[in-house]
Amino acid sequence: MKVASVLIPLPVPEAFDYEVPEAVALARGDQVAVPLGPRLIRGVVAEVRETTGSNRRLKAVEQVLDDPRLPERTVDFVEWAARWTLSAPGEMAAAALKGLRAPRPRPERRVRRVGERSPAKLTAARAAVLEALGPRSMPGPDLARAAGVSSGVVKGLVDEGVLEVVEIEAVAAFDPPDPDHAPASLNPDQAAAADAIAEAVTGGGFAPFLLDGVTGSGKTEAYLEAAARTLKTDPAAQVLILLPEIALTQALIERIAARFGAAPAEWHSGVAPPKRRQVWEAVQAGRCNIVVGARSALFLPFVNLRLLVVDEEHDGSFKQEEGLVYHGRDLAVARGRIEAATVVLASATPSLETLWNAHQGRYGWLKLAARHGAAVLPQISLLDLRQAPPDPQTWLSQPLREAIGETLARGEQTLLFLNRRGYAPVVLCRACGHRMTAPDTDSWLVEHRYTGRLVCHLTGFSMVRPKLCPSCGAEDSLVSVGPGVERVEEEVRQLFPEARTAVFSSDTAPDGKSARALIQTMAEGGIDILVATQAAAKGHNFPHLTLVGVVDADLGLRGGDLRAAERTFQLLTQATGRAGRADKPGRAVLQTWTPEHPVLMALAAGDRDAFVEAEMAEREAASLPPYGRLAALILSGENAAAVDKVARELAGSIPNAERLEVYGPADAPLALVRGRRRKRLLVRADRDVDLQGFLRAWLARVKIPASVRLNVDVDPYSF
Ligand code: ADP
Repeated sequence: MKVASVLIPLPVPEAFDYEVPEAVALARGDQVAVPLGPRLIRGVVAEVRETTGSNRRLKAVEQVLDDPRLPERTVDFVEWAARWTLSAPGEMAAAALKGLRAPRPRPERRVRRVGERSPAKLTAARAAVLEALGPRSMPGPDLARAAGVSSGVVKGLVDEGVLEVVEIEAVAAFDPPDPDHAPASLNPDQAAAADAIAEAVTGGGFAPFLLDGVTGSGKTEAYLEAAARTLKTDPAAQVLILLPEIALTQALIERIAARFGAAPAEWHSGVAPPKRRQVWEAVQAGRCNIVVGARSALFLPFVNLRLLVVDEEHDGSFKQEEGLVYHGRDLAVARGRIEAATVVLASATPSLETLWNAHQGRYGWLKLAARHGAAVLPQISLLDLRQAPPDPQTWLSQPLREAIGETLARGEQTLLFLNRRGYAPVVLCRACGHRMTAPDTDSWLVEHRYTGRLVCHLTGFSMVRPKLCPSCGAEDSLVSVGPGVERVEEEVRQLFPEARTAVFSSDTAPDGKSARALIQTMAEGGIDILVATQAAAKGHNFPHLTLVGVVDADLGLRGGDLRAAERTFQLLTQATGRAGRADKPGRAVLQTWTPEHPVLMALAAGDRDAFVEAEMAEREAASLPPYGRLAALILSGENAAAVDKVARELAGSIPNAERLEVYGPADAPLALVRGRRRKRLLVRADRDVDLQGFLRAWLARVKIPASVRLNVDVDPYSF
């Protein structure tokens, strides 16, 4: 008899076996309905095999669903990703099918001519309608508009039977990209990079590259050229470009539309579900060549994926930490290997992991040395706040104020970067010292002036700013401590009342549309001074921006995260890299209390190698990534005692292993979230240790009660 193992969306590590009825033909990737207890559940066939007379009484596959099949290599990828991240394969498969779960777009109602029938009375308006329509079908309102008549005229023709209404299923058409539509002429570095990538694609087989070049060096132009050549040799090829932020997608989509004469498909959580379903189906049917998306686009059912680009590959936003825990960049490389495709990781500040792989020769290393054309990198200077401290309750020092004034006088733009949303990060009582904190969560409430509320950035909890101190009852004693972007903007408005200012953060630009609008206004010169968090500091081209002021360059360097230096170096390189383009040189000013900090000195000197060398040496000494590997186990639950108990049991049952240590349990970096206590165990292993194998053996030893949740984070981003 035939047996199918089926991936079911449940938190279990294995597929379930079902008997395949005689008359049913099944293959890997098929979607089926299978009985599970009293109900039917949807699953994906992972394997079909022949067995000889098993005496186990398997239940039978109930139904083969009419849905499109997951391509075999997509199933390979899902299974690999589940093993790598220690997730349930059925839940990974469900993530790959999520796009298909959305409703279909509603069919479109159109009118068309019924045979050759003519109206009994042909008025001028009616003639205009028939003329505008011709032999086609059109939505009624569009037709009325095209003919310049009221919709009543169209309706009259329908009532008379001259026109009929038909419902047309909306099948999204993705126009094939034209590789020769508007080619760019590349500089020699770009051409060499595009050649190497295109050659690897044509050669077939897995080929990973690091595309390494300063901001504005033309990395995007280079990989688009490689994509064009890919499509030229294989018009059915599929190309996936991943970006870390939804706010960056629009600009790239427009560039691709200009380069290829056809817009690519877009895939991220901001795209309406029916639209996502269309993209899913088009990708699976091979009707869509280029996809621009967020990390979840990795799970799309590509049938001929030849080239995968991860732009801004160093960006922590590629790490998904809720639900399925995975790093989009790492899984992109894995998907490339499984699809035998070329993978391009692009960045001006590559992650240490990627640099290490390039150094080891595992990745081809393509370098773009300088900014494209006449553009030069901004001049970066450190502004020592010990020499020029800002006045009390202000955040911009005198030299930075002067620089802003000069920039304004030249009619150029300033970006003030502060990676902190809201008005003030802390609100405290002057009378008793009480800090406003979130209930049930280990975090301070951030004051937002635009909304007049105190907000927990972890959970979204918010409350009106109280009049009385909730602890001592004092009146008017609550003070706002420290700056967020709103407060810096307030200072800017007072200093430069004539300037046009705006704030760009996830509060002022919460969705793709508002972000797009703000970015466009900035790009067109409609804003003089933009105060922004990292949401606006990455990837954008603002041609009139010549001054970047970093309000608090020390911000990211505080705190215990071992990746803090790397992350701050990357973020500040990105932020300062917004200054200056082709005909306008830029400069960046970093306000700091610690100008001797190696990260800041390397930034000011434009010496990435110095930073990387120092940081690599520290990581090597501690055997931390990329020299070793980490995994975090986070236990959480409402009952602190239960969480503690599981944590102790885990600590007491660690399998023997060499070149591997377990630290903890200790409080997790966020020890209390939404009333749930969180404990963490951290595993460090040498690179050649089978870390996942160790984790599987370990977790099999401990039974975790339903009241405690375990999250496994392999290769955590923060450590
Ligand atoms: P990166 O991706 O490295 O930040 P981009 O590809 O966005 O760089 O290029 C930066 C700017 O230079 C863009 O405005 C781009 O249009 C322009 N540019 C890059 N390469 C070329 C080229 N070969 N010809 C004309 N303009 C180019």
